[in-house]
Amino acid sequence: MAIARWQRTWQLRAGCLGLAGLLAGCAGTGPQGLDIDTSVQALGQSSRVRFLVLHYTGSGNAQSLKVLSRGQVSSHYLITDEPRPRVYRLVDEHRSAWHAGQSQWHGRTWLNASSIGIEIVNPGWTTGADGKPQWHPYSDAQIETLIALMRDIVQRHGIAARDIVAHSDIAPRRKWDPGPLFPWKRLAQAGLGRWYDEAAAARLQAEYEAGTVPDVAWFQSQLHRLGYAVPQHGVADEQTVKALVAFQLRYRPSDYEGRFDAQSAAILQSLPD
Ligand SMILES: [Zn+2]
Repeated sequence: MAIARWQRTWQLRAGCLGLAGLLAGCAGTGPQGLDIDTSVQALGQSSRVRFLVLHYTGSGNAQSLKVLSRGQVSSHYLITDEPRPRVYRLVDEHRSAWHAGQSQWHGRTWLNASSIGIEIVNPGWTTGADGKPQWHPYSDAQIETLIALMRDIVQRHGIAARDIVAHSDIAPRRKWDPGPLFPWKRLAQAGLGRWYDEAAAARLQAEYEAGTVPDVAWFQSQLHRLGYAVPQHGVADEQTVKALVAFQLRYRPSDYEGRFDAQSAAILQSLPD
């Protein structure tokens, strides 16, 4: 075995003496002229990518492209809001983009190193005439483009449904994107990410409304099961309420006030791991 490898290396070096080798500067197959043998690939390996994080940009096409390519933040992909959305790849998937910031999901922290980030051009929220936040919808074309892009990424990296997340899921104390109008159910119907058993949730909600809503400790254990970073001490502190708001933004976007109510309990319980 050792002899065979020595012979192969010698042959590569000998080949370097020919005309092609002279033209190529007589370099080896790897950096610094090293002869790196890539003929054997290990069975024990996996993608560095485990999570897929979705964002809105909060600005228009030109500004989003500028910020994400020339500033201190970036993403792997940017989907514009043109009638036929353009997809930019701003960072190679093998490298980290700077989109998640301080973040946590299923106990993993600082997800830039282990995720792919997709930014979608959308204004986020503006202040409405009534003084309340007004959210802006995504176009059908953007969502269709996103689904096609995500299907390819998820399949190539083997990303689990539970690890397709909102920026607000992994940074619930800081971030709201992609916001309450993002169509998570439509994505789940396309095979991307989790959704809950709606019939089971309706039954459970009726039971909880007729009886007792579970306590804060129960909510904390359920949120933790889904992946959120929450304490397990049974007290409705700020971190717990923010995680509950993030959950509601995604699964009950009509009301994300952070109340520990019967419907939230029913939906939580009806979501798969
Ligand atoms: Zn974001």
